[in-house]
Amino acid sequence: MKVGVILVGTELLNGGMLDTNSLYIAEELNKYGLEMKFKITVRDFRDEIYSAIDYCKKNVDLIIISGGLGPTLDDITKEVIAEYVKKPLVVDDDELEELKEKFERAGLKFKTLNVKEVEKPEGAVTFKNDVGMAPAVYIDDIVAFPGVPKELYNMLPKFLDWYVKEKKILDDEIYIKDLITYGIAESLLYEAVREFFTEEGIYYEFLVKDYGILIRLQSKMSNKNKVEKIVKKIYNKIGEFIFGEDNDRLEKKVVELLKKLNMNISTAESCTGGMLASKLIDVPGISEVFYEGVVSYSNEAKINRLGVRKEILDKYGAVSEEVAKEMVTGLTTDVALSTTGIAGPDGGSEEKPVGLVYMGIRIKDKIYVEKRVFRGDRNKVRERTVSHTLFTLIKILNEDV
Ligand code: AMP
Ligand code: MG
Repeated sequence: MKVGVILVGTELLNGGMLDTNSLYIAEELNKYGLEMKFKITVRDFRDEIYSAIDYCKKNVDLIIISGGLGPTLDDITKEVIAEYVKKPLVVDDDELEELKEKFERAGLKFKTLNVKEVEKPEGAVTFKNDVGMAPAVYIDDIVAFPGVPKELYNMLPKFLDWYVKEKKILDDEIYIKDLITYGIAESLLYEAVREFFTEEGIYYEFLVKDYGILIRLQSKMSNKNKVEKIVKKIYNKIGEFIFGEDNDRLEKKVVELLKKLNMNISTAESCTGGMLASKLIDVPGISEVFYEGVVSYSNEAKINRLGVRKEILDKYGAVSEEVAKEMVTGLTTDVALSTTGIAGPDGGSEEKPVGLVYMGIRIKDKIYVEKRVFRGDRNKVRERTVSHTLFTLIKILNEDV
């Protein structure tokens, strides 16, 4: 089953907004074994949307449209679909009532132009929008969602669940297993595991994400056991680089481990400037284990807030193993993390190049320091420092504690 995606929005083509919806759509389609054949981005112009629909109709089985479902003049997606399927636009009384109630609950004034948000081509099926106003609308293998990402995330799964049943597409459900690796290059990863990729009917992919590289294995549900066997082999070979599966993330793993070990944590950050604390605080339930995050950027702050000794700073410099150690010593929790480095673009020297970072990890009385020279711009160096610190902490907690 082939899917064509149409992204509607002038802002997507004039540099105003980056399309992220199609990434999400692709990932969801994968889960159902549906394939995105292409995506077309068009401006909020009637003839451009119409031609895109027409092209899709001739080349794919299902058309997914995102954008142009709002109340303003440039939101014309549903009008164009109605024109294409030769149906008038109608409004369902119950849906209008529901929309008015939503406005009331949100304390917003309902205006005549908002009626547009529940218009649909006659005979269309709608999908409830739990996080916004306009419902998704489906007719004749064309489905349209609002462009607002969280609204798309709310309704696309509902639609796909319904659609695959309606069309009886899933003779067998799809099984996906993601192994999330960290600290090994994609090429080495591929070299290490390619020998396992010989089984018929199982598809393999490497996906580079900001939190690591995924090895994705995908097959029909009836092949689940075969997939699990291969997963075991992969663990045996490169298990040390796999920190989690599926929805695991480094920070989530750290929080799980800390809870299990009944330990609390704090951070003292220089070059990452709070990113490490922020990453950890992204995890719901962190309050049980997170004590404090100190952004000790200047030497004075390192001395005054963390008790880093001035003579150590003078002797070794702020970016040094010794200072990373003193920073974690200045924190009071069971687990303490520190970062100090040269994120660039300036400030590097031959001895201490841009990208040089020391990451301190203290677990009770035991202190570890990781030294790395990360490549990339200022932001990349800082992101990599965060990921690497978390990954190293997971390894230590798993192996040494
Ligand atoms: P619309 O349904 O056209 O009113 O879209 C509402 C908002 O959603 C736009 O102003 C954008 O901020 C956002 N948006 C639209 N299309 C996309 C897309 N493909 N990816 C991410 N955001 C989008
Ligand atoms: Mg728009």
